[in-house]
Amino acid sequence: MGKSRDYQVIIIGGGPAGLTAGLYCARAGLGALLIEKGAMGGQITYAERVENYPGFPMGISGIELGQLIHQQATSYGLQTLLAETTGLKLQRGRNVVKTTEGEFIAGVVIIASGSQFRKLKVPGEEEFLGKGVSYCATCDGPFFRDKAVAVIGGGNSALTEALYLSKFASSVKVVHRRNQLRAGDALQKRARMEPKIDFVWDAVVAQIEGDRTVNQLRLTSTKDGTILMLPVAGVFAAIGLEPNTDYLGGTVPLDKGGYIITDELMETGVPGIFAAGDVRHNSVRQAIVAAGDGATAAVVAERFLSSY
Ligand code: NAP
Repeated sequence: MGKSRDYQVIIIGGGPAGLTAGLYCARAGLGALLIEKGAMGGQITYAERVENYPGFPMGISGIELGQLIHQQATSYGLQTLLAETTGLKLQRGRNVVKTTEGEFIAGVVIIASGSQFRKLKVPGEEEFLGKGVSYCATCDGPFFRDKAVAVIGGGNSALTEALYLSKFASSVKVVHRRNQLRAGDALQKRARMEPKIDFVWDAVVAQIEGDRTVNQLRLTSTKDGTILMLPVAGVFAAIGLEPNTDYLGGTVPLDKGGYIITDELMETGVPGIFAAGDVRHNSVRQAIVAAGDGATAAVVAERFLSSY
């Protein structure tokens, strides 16, 4: 039997924000469909261990946390669909959500499509994806046992990745475009104390080179343009995130960075269209906050539907 095409609420994205919105909608008895293009849990599935989500004093793997919230939400009747959302057409009361599995209609849409890893945008990045290029040390680190790797970036993610990789790799070079790290003091201290980690300052990646797999990076100095070749088998880009909002095509107001602007009730300003989680302007990017956003969006969405 095919899925219904008509729902009270459609939720775009299956991270903590979307899943929690789904849980609340389902418990409120609303007909709700959650559309996710990849794994339930979203970005949190990249976390080896989540230690700051309340209720799990021993920590929990990101994948397991995503699965548990999914299980909880679907047990109350949330419908889910594995598909990519490709567009949104606003029609008050009958908004159209376009996906790779066809079009769906909903009175309310909760956008919780999160963010994705920012790309280096250099030659070799796409060609060697999965052949030495990665955005997730937790996922791919063990493939680089006793090999030299580089991490690109100077923020908390870059140092977290570098520290994780130092468990496997023979050496970890952190390549940063400035000579000062953005990462917090505690992580900086740990990274500087780890003998396998070194820093390459004032440099950016110009090209990722290899044969069948990566074997070196061509770096350019941001000071004087000189070239430095760095022999590595793996390169982990950790240069931040960008919002998944391209598919919205100008239907809701975005900030300069492409994040959705909302008020504290998760309202976008377009009646019936809400946003929750990392896709929002000024999100602090924490799973628990995303979950809270999702709950707020669902509660306000229910009020919106009952007053409609
Ligand atoms: P981020 O804080 O935005 O840092 C991105 C880093 O990449 C910066 O050092 C930046 O350089 C560099 N960068 C950006 N674009 C670049 C480019 N095109 N080429 C080369 N380098 C580039 O991102 P993040 O580290 O992914 O962290 C995201 C958020 O998650 C932050 O709020 C962070 O605190 C949080 N987080 C927390 C933890 C933790 O607490 N353990 C772990 C991971 C992430 P500049 O410094 O020169 O701008």
